[in-house]
Amino acid sequence: MNNYDVIIIGGGLTGSVLSYELAKKNLRVLLLEKDSIFNNATVYSYGGISYWCGTDETTIKLCQEGINIYRNLTEELDYNIDFRELDLLFTIDKNQDPENTFQQYQKFHIAPKLLDKKETNSLEPLINIDAISGSLRFPQGHVQPEKMIFAYQKALMRLGGKVEQELVISVEKNQDKIIGVKTEKNSYSASQIILCAGAFSRSILQNLGINLPLYFSHAQLIMTPPAPVKLKTLVMPCTMKRLDTEKQVAQSAEKIWQKESNTLYGDVLEAGAIQFLDGSFCLGQISQIIPNLNSPIDSVISEKRLRDAIASILPSLANLSGKWHNCQVAFTEGMPFLVGKIGQIEGLSIFSGFTSPFVFVPPLARYFADYLVNGEETLISFNL
Ligand SMILES: Cc1cc2nc3c(=O)[nH]c(=O)nc-3n(C[C@H](O)[C@H](O)[C@H](O)COP(=O)(O)OP(=O)(O)OC[C@H]3O[C@@H](n4cnc5c(N)ncnc54)[C@H](O)[C@@H]3O)c2cc1C
Repeated sequence: MNNYDVIIIGGGLTGSVLSYELAKKNLRVLLLEKDSIFNNATVYSYGGISYWCGTDETTIKLCQEGINIYRNLTEELDYNIDFRELDLLFTIDKNQDPENTFQQYQKFHIAPKLLDKKETNSLEPLINIDAISGSLRFPQGHVQPEKMIFAYQKALMRLGGKVEQELVISVEKNQDKIIGVKTEKNSYSASQIILCAGAFSRSILQNLGINLPLYFSHAQLIMTPPAPVKLKTLVMPCTMKRLDTEKQVAQSAEKIWQKESNTLYGDVLEAGAIQFLDGSFCLGQISQIIPNLNSPIDSVISEKRLRDAIASILPSLANLSGKWHNCQVAFTEGMPFLVGKIGQIEGLSIFSGFTSPFVFVPPLARYFADYLVNGEETLISFNL
């Protein structure tokens, strides 16, 4: 059967969750993912669920609903996604003033606790306290990202949805109406297509002549095998640099993204780490803004920068054996996501560009699925 109600392009976090929510509404769903082995922003992420990060009525509601979904998700999906609740520690650099930094984080609906060096050390002994002036502690949820998308895709298939490993090469339309997609192997028809291809959504939109504020960074990180050392918290530096850089780049976006150049427009190194329940680590992260999706990144220089930065804050992790990876992470401007029906083409939608997707995607996918099936906008406007 090559005819579906809805086709989702991209089987990362966004596509897997949304496909499942649409299949729960009895739609015939096809999820198309180009890679046979997960190799995307989702599987190289920390998997942190930042349910403290609401700043207005909508995001606060999504944070609260998001964490509640996770608390029951293993049962709902019938698969262990290693969900747990742990502390997120934002390390405050030794040259930063702790009190000032603390004030900047009061805008979130769950305020952090300011810890001094001694308190930080007793919570996370692996942190080098000579490199910090203190830390901020937030409550955080956590899952194993690969297990999470696997669990959602399995649950989708149990509901009758299909997952195919195929690269979508074009979105097909008749005049201004969606009729389906072409992949390398097949043609599929559907009256609705949803772009969940993360950073790759940008080029799909461009091929359709559509200009939306969807951009991306090239993220670099190291994944390690299980190691005997024990990190108790999710550690990240206390800085808004990445978000500020994304904002600046979004504002001057039209100039920057006109050509797919290899020019570097932003470079932020945030030394952080998470240990998964099997003992393996993700050590991150460098985020570089380069408009060419396929821009080459020097892995030797990148890995050295990452390891040097980790050596300063988490010295016992700096020399763990591990593999360097590079992936592309989508972002947008204004709202922390770009979700809705794209006005220019009937039947085309996007569900992408998330900041803090692990907390926002599961609840927002429910609202968006409701909207696509019932036409009710109960939370935000889904018209782009
Ligand atoms: C080091 C690091 C740490 C992070 N930590 C966190 C965190 O703690 N919490 C958090 O909320 N977020 C975190 N993130 C961000 C988060 O991982 C991403 O924003 C999110 O996973 C993106 O999901 P996605 O579905 O949009 O994109 P992706 O996971 O990239 O999925 C897109 C998929 O689309 C597929 N695709 C693309 N084009 C096509 C095509 N033409 N045909 C078929 N398939 C296609 C790709 O193969 C890919 O699998 C982190 C990111 C990094 C790099």
